[in-house]
Parts: sequence; C-alpha cells; structure tokens
Amino acid sequence: MINFQYARANDVADAVRMIATDPTAKFIAGGTNLIDLMKEDVERPSGLIDISRLPLKGVEETSDGGVRIGALVPNSDLAWHPLIEQRYPLLRNAILAGASQQLRNMASTGGNLLQRTRCAYFYDIATPCNKREPGSGCSAIGGINRIHAILGTSESCIATHPSDMCVALAALDAKVHVTGPAGERVLAFTDFHRLPDSSPQTDTNLHPNELITAVELPAKGFPANYSYLKIRDRLSYAFALVSIAAAMELEGGTIGEARLALGGVAHKPWRDSAAESALRGQPANQTTFEQAADILLRDARGYEHNTFKIDLARRGIVRTLTQAAQATPQSQSDKKIR
Ligand SMILES: Cc1cc2nc3c(=O)[nH]c(=O)nc-3n(C[C@H](O)[C@H](O)[C@H](O)COP(=O)(O)OP(=O)(O)OC[C@H]3O[C@@H](n4cnc5c(N)ncnc54)[C@H](O)[C@@H]3O)c2cc1C
Ligand code: SF4
Repeated sequence: MINFQYARANDVADAVRMIATDPTAKFIAGGTNLIDLMKEDVERPSGLIDISRLPLKGVEETSDGGVRIGALVPNSDLAWHPLIEQRYPLLRNAILAGASQQLRNMASTGGNLLQRTRCAYFYDIATPCNKREPGSGCSAIGGINRIHAILGTSESCIATHPSDMCVALAALDAKVHVTGPAGERVLAFTDFHRLPDSSPQTDTNLHPNELITAVELPAKGFPANYSYLKIRDRLSYAFALVSIAAAMELEGGTIGEARLALGGVAHKPWRDSAAESALRGQPANQTTFEQAADILLRDARGYEHNTFKIDLARRGIVRTLTQAAQATPQSQSDKKIR
C-alpha cells in the first residue's frame, strides 16, 4: 500500500472540484472495495476524496411515479426501504443476495456500480492482466477461468462484473445521474457499464472526474411477478457464478412486458432485447422460457473451465422465469434453490 492524501468533500461541487484538481485521486464511499484494492496494490490513488458525508442519502419518489436513490444510500437501507420493498422487490432481493449484512451496511449505491471484477489475476499483481496493466496480457485466457465470462468477451479480457444489485437495476431500466466539471448528465443503466473490447481497463462510460449522484428507477417495478436467482459455490458470502433477474406482467397466462438480465456471465449486467421480445405476447410456459434462454445464450462461448456456465445459465433462466410467472420468487432468507 502506498502513501496517499486524504480530504473530505463538503458538498457535490466541492467533490467535483477536488477530483478535477487531482485526476489521480479517487472518491471513497463505503471503502469496501477500494480499500481492499489499495491494500493489494492494485489501485494506487494519489489521494482519497471522502464523499461519505455528502447529502446523497435520500430515497424519494419522483414526479413521474419513479424513485430516486441517492448515491450514498447504503445497500442495507435501500433493500429495506418501504418504497423498494413494496414497489421494487426484485431490487431488494438482488441486494440481499449479495455480500453480508455488515458489508451491505457499509456499501453505497454508487460504489456498488463501480466495484471491480473479482478475477483473481486482477488482484494478483505478480500476473499479467490487461485490466490492471493495459498491454500486459490476460492470464485468465488459458489460465484458470472457471468464474469468467461466456458472453461479450474479447481477446483482451474475459472478466465478469460481480454485482448483484446492478443486475436488477439493468432489468428495471434504471438511469444513472452523474455530475462532473461539464455539468450533469444521465446515462441509461444498460449504457453505464461497458464490454472489455480492446480497453478492459475501462469498466464504465463514467468519465474519470465525474461523481455518481443518484440512481433513478422508472415507475414500473414488477412487484407481482419477479424473481432473482443467484447460483454460487456456497449459499452465502460468495459471488455469482450465474445470476438471473426476471420480471414480467401477466395478462391471463400471457406475458405482456418482460425483463431478463444476467449477472456473472459478462463484463456488464447482460440484457438482450431479442430474448425479451421472444417472451412478450407468448404463453408463460416452459417452451417459451427455453426459447428465450436459447436466444439469450446464442453467442455464448465457454473457455477451458467455464463451459458449464452455458448450461447452468440456460437452466437458471428457465427456473427464474418460472418462479416469476408463478409469483414464487426465490427466497433470499432460505437461499436453497428448489
Ligand atoms: C468479501 C466481500 C464480498 C462481497 N460480495 C458481494 C456480492 O456477493 N455481491 C455484490 O454485488 N457485491 C459484493 N461485494 C461488493 C460490495 O457490494 C462492494 O464492495 C460495494 O458495493 C462497494 O461500495 P462502496 O461504497 O464500499 O465502494 P468504495 O469501495 O468506496 O468505492 C468503490 C469504487 O467506486 C468509486 N465510487 C464510490 N462512490 C462513488 C460515486 N458516488 N461516484 C463516483 N465514484 C464512486 C470509488 O472511487 C471506487 O473506485 C462484496 C465485497 C466484499 C469485500
Ligand atoms: S480476465 Fe480481465 S481482469 Fe482477468 S486477467 Fe484477463 S484482463 Fe485481467
């Protein structure tokens, strides 16, 4: 770990000003990812700009019936907020599937979006890694790649995005509000994270000097028919091998609006409009769900140790859509998959 400066921002404008004067500094919110990365010498910021006391901790209804979540709302507070519990239970369940209670108490909404991959080579500074050191190579391709991506990979990187919360936010069509020296802008959630292509060092389309101020949910929350299924090596305190967020509206036995997003399979939460189109207007049954799964996974590619994820994802999609259709969402207190 290197020496670094520490300063606390007083307000949003102050935080943006501070990062503009030192682009090699980093914001720190809950610190649950950044401090680990600094201890491992993966991240070496010249300074930390503490944003944890900025007034971004509100969860409020918007004028169009949605909800605006401040970037510093802790994951636990968000999961148990009455607006989220009642109107966006898919988001609550995805959050509760992640990490541990203690970590969720510290982890912030903005920090969750920007947590970095759990590829072991990324954390091991003795190994080549294009994401940590551009141009050095990818140790996972040809190495141990059991937890790695099967969709949207590149020759430079096959890492996955590890968040659970982000999978639900992608399915719910959230938006990300950011502020930087050039002012404010809003990004669609599906445009926030990026695929690795030839520059895997860049995880998102956030500019380095921008601050996330809020995440906004639209009015539609699918409170009746939803499920978040997280498949992992052990039932708690483990990242997803594959996770699935599914939500739909049902008219009789027919699917109206449908959402499907996957975690643990790509460099970003994976949504596929063709798979969702294949659900709309169709009967909510196993055949429809299998067709949607096949469409979503049509370009999936396994590496030496992770080919099992393709079949796991297919079966997981069918199960999660079935749970959503039957209004029997996967329990996050009894995590057993039945
Ligand atoms: C042991 C362990 C297990 C975990 N298991 C899971 C799991 O199963 N599922 C899961 O989803 N997550 C899991 N996590 C990850 C956890 O959810 C994240 O570490 C957490 O959400 C990060 O939030 P934070 O506020 O602590 O971010 P920090 O560590 O403070 O920051 C992370 C990054 O975000 C940047 N940042 C933070 N806030 C902002 C902002 N408002 N604007 C711009 N940049 C910002 C920081 O500069 C930094 O680069 C686990 C973590 C640990 C340590
Ligand atoms: S998969 Fe990505 S993060 Fe992992 S070693 Fe390769 S380049 Fe690095």
